[in-house]
Amino acid sequence: MKAFVGATLIDGTGKAPVKNSVVLVKEDRIEAAGPRGAVMLPDGVEIVNVSGLTLLPGLIDTHDHLVTEGYSLSQRWGLSEPLSLKYLKTARAVEDTLMSGYTTVRDAGWLDAGFKRAIDEGVIPGPRLLVAVAIISATGGAADRFSPAGYSHPGFGDPLIPSGVANGVDGVRAKVREVCRAGADVVKIATTGGVGSRPGFGPKDSLYTLEEIRAAVDEAHFQGRKVMCHAIGGHGLRLAIEAGVDSIEHGGYLDQEPRLIQAMAERNIFFTPTFTVYVYHRERGQPHMQSRAREMQPHHIKSLQMALAAGVRVSAGTDAGGYVKGDNAHEVQLLAEAGMSPMQALRGGTGWAAECIGLEREGGTVEAGKLADLLVIDGDPLSNISVLRDRSRTRLVMKGGKAYVDRLGGGGQAGRGAS
Ligand SMILES: [Zn+2]
Repeated sequence: MKAFVGATLIDGTGKAPVKNSVVLVKEDRIEAAGPRGAVMLPDGVEIVNVSGLTLLPGLIDTHDHLVTEGYSLSQRWGLSEPLSLKYLKTARAVEDTLMSGYTTVRDAGWLDAGFKRAIDEGVIPGPRLLVAVAIISATGGAADRFSPAGYSHPGFGDPLIPSGVANGVDGVRAKVREVCRAGADVVKIATTGGVGSRPGFGPKDSLYTLEEIRAAVDEAHFQGRKVMCHAIGGHGLRLAIEAGVDSIEHGGYLDQEPRLIQAMAERNIFFTPTFTVYVYHRERGQPHMQSRAREMQPHHIKSLQMALAAGVRVSAGTDAGGYVKGDNAHEVQLLAEAGMSPMQALRGGTGWAAECIGLEREGGTVEAGKLADLLVIDGDPLSNISVLRDRSRTRLVMKGGKAYVDRLGGGGQAGRGAS
């Protein structure tokens, strides 16, 4: 058993920080956490001195794409490199993401469920993964790889990742079953176009009918999966909320639908704005993507503020994997810059994020009984949120009681060696 003693504890529940705390870890779980005077230190416990540091839950990214790289046709269609090379690079990105303090990542599409197994079996280090495997959309939507010259691409090049194209109530229901069979922990659907979609199919264009979206939600829930829905504005956004998806991903034009924001609050639908990817779309996207992203930005920020005011819970998802990996905490900073308090933004990357992805009973907060997913940093994220992005400040990354980064440097006085 180990006791981390003396840190300022920000436990991810939104409660005020606890100075001079104790967090007791037994095997893979947190045994107790609280102020020093309130937690009994058992005989033989190994004391780790973390005074002067901040202890947080391991961070959670609720929307990433660990396998993708770039938005060019050759990258998206896998024309330039063999799948083996892509996957070796992905293994490195997965490890790097864990080392940055992210102990859980929900991958929103194209990551083979084998990566999850590789991590669980200890083949490669990485965060706890929840995977969507494929993105489900109608013909012409996000899942449909079709070039202006008429070429089509069946999928990702990985036979374990089904094409996400599905049409009609029966087709959509069958597709949900297919992605679940391929190992999906969450069902990802797209009901609108996006900033990154082809010219002529933008953020407010929609394809699915209410009946089709309802079929996806019904089948996913029947199979115990949540539905994360790429929806940005207009009709497809309205229908997604009406059909009862579990989270709205992006939601850049929610501000134009105050009634929908109210409905999200009432129905516990999470909002995952994914601000990070739009920074890159604005700076590095193709010309039509840059102008779409610039036009959306003020609406996106207003959407967040209106959602918060209405009581909608917000989770930190980067969606940035197509551009950048290993800087997932950028999103927490962007949430704060868009109007969340630093504590709210931290909840977005911890407690609320765990609720968004359905892991609230296992993680997201530093509380007795939860998995020992911990992050210790040198710095106070409540006064300067960007310290989360500074790797030189990372002192400990622990997942399930196992340390993957440990730079506490023997500052802890060893106890009697029992653990
Ligand atoms: Zn995405």
